[in-house]
Amino acid sequence: MFVNGQWISAFGWFPVRSPATGEIIAELPSAGIEEAMLAADAASAAFQTWRQTTAHHRCALLRAWYNAVIEHTEGIARTITMEMGKPIQEARGEVVYAASFIDWFAEEGRRVGGESMPSQHGDKRLATLQQPVGPVYAITPWNFPAAMITRKLAPALAVGCTAIVKPPVQAPLTALYFAKLWEDVGGPPGTLQVITTADPRTVSQVMFDDPRIRKLTFTGSTEVGKRLYEQSAKTLKRMSLELGGHAPFIIFEDADLDAAVDEVVACKFRNAGQTCVCTNRIYVHRSIASQFAEKLAVAVNRLQVGDPLLESTRIGPLVDEHARDKALSHIADAVAQGARIIAGGVRMEGFYVQPTVLQDVTATMLIMQEETFGPVAPLITFDSEAEVVAAANASPYGLAAYLWTRNLTRAQLVAEALEYGMIGVNDGAPSTAQAPFGGNKDSGLGREGGHWGLQEYLDVKFISTKLERCTLES
Ligand code: NAD
Repeated sequence: MFVNGQWISAFGWFPVRSPATGEIIAELPSAGIEEAMLAADAASAAFQTWRQTTAHHRCALLRAWYNAVIEHTEGIARTITMEMGKPIQEARGEVVYAASFIDWFAEEGRRVGGESMPSQHGDKRLATLQQPVGPVYAITPWNFPAAMITRKLAPALAVGCTAIVKPPVQAPLTALYFAKLWEDVGGPPGTLQVITTADPRTVSQVMFDDPRIRKLTFTGSTEVGKRLYEQSAKTLKRMSLELGGHAPFIIFEDADLDAAVDEVVACKFRNAGQTCVCTNRIYVHRSIASQFAEKLAVAVNRLQVGDPLLESTRIGPLVDEHARDKALSHIADAVAQGARIIAGGVRMEGFYVQPTVLQDVTATMLIMQEETFGPVAPLITFDSEAEVVAAANASPYGLAAYLWTRNLTRAQLVAEALEYGMIGVNDGAPSTAQAPFGGNKDSGLGREGGHWGLQEYLDVKFISTKLERCTLES
C-alpha cells in the first residue's frame, strides 16, 4: 500500500480474485490500526505544507497526473477488468471518464475565490476566504474503481486537502495504479495515500476517531453509508455520501422508441447493471408497452455475455456470488409473483447472469424496492403523467431518473416533479465532469463534479476588519 510516499507492507495479506475466472490475481497487504495511524499522521503533516502551495502549483501537478492517466489508459483498463469484471471496452471508457474529473478540477481549482460584502459601518471591511477543510478520508466502491477515486481526489487535492483512500476489498488494484502515477509525476509524500485492507471497519474506526481527519467522503451502499454517518458524528466530520439508487426510466407514448430502447440497454446493462444510476424500474406507457417490450427483448438477446477481456463482450460476470445471488433472487421473486421472462433468465456458470427482461412487473415485487445491481430489466405499464410521477417518487432513493418524450412541456414539468438529484431527458447517460453528480433522500448528501464538487472540500472563513478611520488622511 502507499503510505507517506512509501510502498509499505503489513502483517496480514488478502487475495484479489478475478470474478471472471476465480483466480487469485494479486495478494495485497491488509492494513490494521498501525498502518491506518501512520497514514493519518502523514496526511495531517503533509496538509500543513500542501495547503500553503499555490493553486497554480497544485493544478499543474493535477494536469501532469491527468496526462499520466491518459497515457496509461490501457494498463488501468485491464486492471479494472481483471479485478472487477467490467468488459474491457467499458473499462477504457471508465478511465477516460475518471481522467475527465482530474482535467476539470485541474482548471477549476484555480478559480477558488472569496467574496466581499458592503458593511453598514463605514470603518468595516467584510470578506470571505475559502480554505481547504483538511485531511480527507475517502472510501470507494468496486463498481467504478477508477472514477470514484478521481471524483473525490481531484477536487480535494486541487484546493489543498490531503487524502487517504481506502479502496474496496474486491477491487483495490486500480487505486494503487493511480497512487503510482501520482508518485511518478512528483506528488509529495502524504498528499495522496492508499491503504488496502480486508478489514475496512477497523481501519475506518481509526479515521473516525481522529479529529485531525476533517472529512469523510464515501461512495457505496446506503446501508453502510448510514452507519458511517453515525460513526463519524463523534468527531463531527464534514460529510459527502454518494449512496445507492433505484432509477426510474419513464417512456411516454410520444417517445422515439428505437432511441429509447438503445438508451435503456446502455443505461440498464452497462457494467452488467452494477451502476448506481442504472435504471431499476422501466415505466412504459400502456399504449406502446408491448411494442417496446418486443424491441427491448430483441436488443437484450443480442448482448454478448462472456470473458470481459474480449473486445466483443458486452456483459461480464457480476462481482461475486452475493451479487449473482441477489440478481437471481429478484428474478425468482418476480416470476413467483406473476412476472414473465421475455429475454434471458437462463442460469449460467460462475458469477455470470444472463441479461434478462421481465414483463408484467408490479410494485410489490422485490426488484421494485431493492437495488438489483445486476442485468435485470423490469417493465411496468402506466397510463398518465401524474400516476407515473407518483410511482417513480414512491422510493426511498433519489439519485437519477430518466424520461423519454418529444413533448417539451411534458419533459419540463415531469423533470421538475421527479424527486431525484439528476434527470436525463431523452438522455440515458447524463453524468459529466462539469455537472453536479449526487442524490437526495437515501441516495446521499452532497455533490461531486462541477464547481459544486469543490465546495465539498472547502470551509468558508469570514473576516471582518475594523479600520482606524473612514476617510483618507489629508
Ligand atoms: P459497500 O457499501 O458494500 O462498500 C463500499 C465501500 O465501503 C468499500 O470500500 C467497502 O470496503 C467499505 N465498507 C464496507 N463496510 C464498511 C464498514 N463497516 N466500515 C468502513 N468501510 C466499509 O458498497 P459496494 O458494494 O462496494 O458498492 C455498491 C454500492 O455503491 C451500490 O449501492 C451503489 O449504488 C453504490 N454506488 C453509489 C454511487 C453514487 O455516486 N451514488 C456510485 C457508485 C456506487
